[in-house]
Amino acid sequence: MPLDTRTLLNGLRSGALRDQLEVHYQPIIYLRNGKLMGYEALLRWDHPEEGMIPPDIFIPFAEQHQMMFEVTQILFEKVLNEQAHWNHSRRTMISLNISPSSLPEDDLSTLLNPLTTDEIINRKQVILEITETAILENPVSSGALIHRLKAEGFSFALDDFGTGYSSLTNLRDLPFSELKVDKSFIQNLDAQRSNDHILIDAILSIAYAFGAFVVAEGIETKETLAQLQSMNCYAGQGYLFAKPMPATAIDSWHAQWPDQWLQLVRQTKHAVI
Ligand code: C2E
Ligand code: CA
Ligand code: CA
Repeated sequence: MPLDTRTLLNGLRSGALRDQLEVHYQPIIYLRNGKLMGYEALLRWDHPEEGMIPPDIFIPFAEQHQMMFEVTQILFEKVLNEQAHWNHSRRTMISLNISPSSLPEDDLSTLLNPLTTDEIINRKQVILEITETAILENPVSSGALIHRLKAEGFSFALDDFGTGYSSLTNLRDLPFSELKVDKSFIQNLDAQRSNDHILIDAILSIAYAFGAFVVAEGIETKETLAQLQSMNCYAGQGYLFAKPMPATAIDSWHAQWPDQWLQLVRQTKHAVI
């Protein structure tokens, strides 16, 4: 049954939201050598009656109903607490999705404060992911925010690149260090007659020219991995490596990852160990 507005709204406004929101983490891997770059934090809502509600459903709703301050606050708090769960956290990047159009600039600064003083995680490790659509909704204030936080030491990724009204001016005018290619382009890469490799090649060249690196999303097959490696794509994430997982599962995934990568390398041509 589709979720109705009242259920969502009551849930979001309930005091129990803090307990019900969970953060799952998906590894991001350097495609050349299989080393771990970091993790993307992705929210899930474990609703007492509705079960797991995916972020695609509740984030747009929370944005619409001005609930993103609370949601993002819970996200940041949980990420800070949970980083202590895995013992390699000091060496990894953490990517956080933010919705600048639904968070006034001052609110976002308040939310980011703990990330600038914490000892477990520092701002040099934080990549803030913003979608092109979000920038389009409010180009002037998003731009000002990105410039200011960049000067304070945060890094930015342009998320879902290629899906909306992609504007190269975003790359020209805003200091993105990373460009994330949407999975809809990646998943057809190895399909016959797909022209997506032409697009990816062009995106890689443009990103490189602007001094940004590319992360490919949605890598599900060895063939896709091999193709991205042959194109010198910098990093990637996808179910082939790991699905998003709770913080408590990270250490055991990390322990087996070198073996998993070795197996993948044996079956693909272009990687080095
Ligand atoms: P996104 O930022 O583009 O995140 C990547 C999505 O792709 C995630 O979906 C991830 O689970 C999924 N994915 C990763 N690898 C694969 C793969 O190999 N195959 C397939 N089919 N999917 C893959 P998820 O977790 O459902 O998140 C959906 C969207 O919700 C995110 O898209 C992001 O835009 C939004 N979102 C999630 N957490 C947050 C948050 O904390 N704040 C905000 N503002 N948005 C969030
Ligand atoms: Ca993202
Ligand atoms: Ca994305």
